[in-house]
Amino acid sequence: MRPSRFDVVIAGGGHNGLTAAAYLAQAGRSVLVLERQPLVGGAAVSARVFDGVDARLSRFSYLVSLLPASIIADLNLRVRLRHRRIASYTPAGDRGLLVDHGDQAATAASFAALTGSDADWKAWQKFYAATAALARRVFPTLTEPLRTRAEFRALAGDDAVWDALIEQPLSAVIEREFGHDTVRGVVLTDALIGTFARAGEDSLRQNRCFLYHVIGNGTGDWDVPVGGMGQVTEELARAAREAGAEIRTGAEVTGIDPDGEVTVREADGEYTVGAGHILANLAPAALARLTGDRTMASQATSNGSAPEGAQLKVNLVLRRLPRLRDPDVTPQAAFAGTFHVHEGYAGLEEAYRQAAAGRIPAAAPCETYCHSLTDPSILGPELAASGAHTLTVFGLHMPARLFRADPDGARAAALAATLAALDDVLAEPVADCLLTDAAGQPCVEVKSPADLEREIYLPGGHIWHQDLEWPFAEDDADAGRWGVETGHPRLLLCGAGTRRGGGVSGIGGHNAAMALLRG
Ligand SMILES: Cc1cc2nc3c(=O)[nH]c(=O)nc-3n(C[C@H](O)[C@H](O)[C@H](O)COP(=O)(O)OP(=O)(O)OC[C@H]3O[C@@H](n4cnc5c(N)ncnc54)[C@H](O)[C@@H]3O)c2cc1C
Repeated sequence: MRPSRFDVVIAGGGHNGLTAAAYLAQAGRSVLVLERQPLVGGAAVSARVFDGVDARLSRFSYLVSLLPASIIADLNLRVRLRHRRIASYTPAGDRGLLVDHGDQAATAASFAALTGSDADWKAWQKFYAATAALARRVFPTLTEPLRTRAEFRALAGDDAVWDALIEQPLSAVIEREFGHDTVRGVVLTDALIGTFARAGEDSLRQNRCFLYHVIGNGTGDWDVPVGGMGQVTEELARAAREAGAEIRTGAEVTGIDPDGEVTVREADGEYTVGAGHILANLAPAALARLTGDRTMASQATSNGSAPEGAQLKVNLVLRRLPRLRDPDVTPQAAFAGTFHVHEGYAGLEEAYRQAAAGRIPAAAPCETYCHSLTDPSILGPELAASGAHTLTVFGLHMPARLFRADPDGARAAALAATLAALDDVLAEPVADCLLTDAAGQPCVEVKSPADLEREIYLPGGHIWHQDLEWPFAEDDADAGRWGVETGHPRLLLCGAGTRRGGGVSGIGGHNAAMALLRG
């Protein structure tokens, strides 16, 4: 007989639900995790995507910055994150801008060659020294009860940075501090990941996205999870199970009664489970649908608008890395970091305009990165020995609205525009480098926001469940809470849609668990 009541039932087995499960089970609570898919992990999974190709791709998310070292230590996770020496490469004509953490002189020379002076390099160092100082001060608070805005500002301790990142649209600081269009664009991209926004938007959602991209673990570094993103999820699932949590896959939550009852559908029928508390690893919009109470989810967050993702994810496996136009940089260096394509400042604005007008951007902005250069363990030995590599492409300004009327046609058009964008900056077509699968088909997988909504249940395909929020209480009355509350005492959010939850961080799960354990 299956137990019909648990201390905590968690709807959704994403990495955040598993994090909450592990903490709560370790604290002695009886925990049930219900995941509708055959596998746990949601957007944090690895998969062998191409038939006959022995490559475990991080299918959706791929880099880790926001997962606190404290969570890895608390849960004893065997997760290794490998630092990338090359931060980024941005082709510009027949040369490019290389930002190499390991060689300041080379980076300075690269800035000078691109911009014609050392002004932007100096501005870059000053700007990122300030964001790093901010990161060191504020990141530890993300796993603590919320501070008020004033307390958070005092902790940040730098009024100029506060003004630039929290008060003014990001465009102000970028246009004031940096002169060259390429440099401005590279800075801006962190504000546009999965976020359909302009640099100068009053909503400041671009600022919030930027903030989360520069504070991770007190450095803002985006590291490579060894073994792929699935390794992070597998370790969290192991920690939860070993602590006694039960994880059911193929178990869809079809109804939530906030007073403590969850309705579940499995292949052999529907049943209900009682719960002392219910944790929702679901997007707030999905939770509102399941409870039938729209005010509940919007009480949990300050953002009531419908979520809309804005990215195209393309997974490629290559026979070999493509040749670059730039004779001074090797493909191994350029693709090890974030490789920016058509992400100049003016170009990003133009791409936004085109997408807002309902068109796939003509010069599609995107960024690529090669996991297997930093961590070849995701390739089978024969594939690795053959010189093959993985390539992740993350396209910006591809909002869900472009894919609604004709999902297949729009996906094909977006893929074509993205591959053409890559070809614009390479010395040979990327198609010439693609590996083929067992059926002779090129190894190309593409996911639009509409695909993400259908396949992994992200509302509007939004990778953060909804637009990111400030990591402090906007209403002083919420200070001291965890940013997971729904307005109902027995129902909490525990995923990316919690106040500080976006990205692969476990923070949403941690904070929901702490709200239960510490009150
Ligand atoms: C293409 C892409 C690229 C990204 N890149 C990065 C990156 O490089 N780095 C980074 O930090 N972040 C990245 N992100 C964001 C990050 O992956 C997510 O914010 C994070 O994984 C969310 O985790 P979660 O556990 O809160 O939710 P999810 O991963 O969304 O998990 C929720 C789970 O709930 C399940 N579920 C939904 N409805 C039900 C139901 N009714 N019943 C039962 N189960 C249900 C889902 O199947 C899913 O498993 C990316 C996301 C995407 C999509």
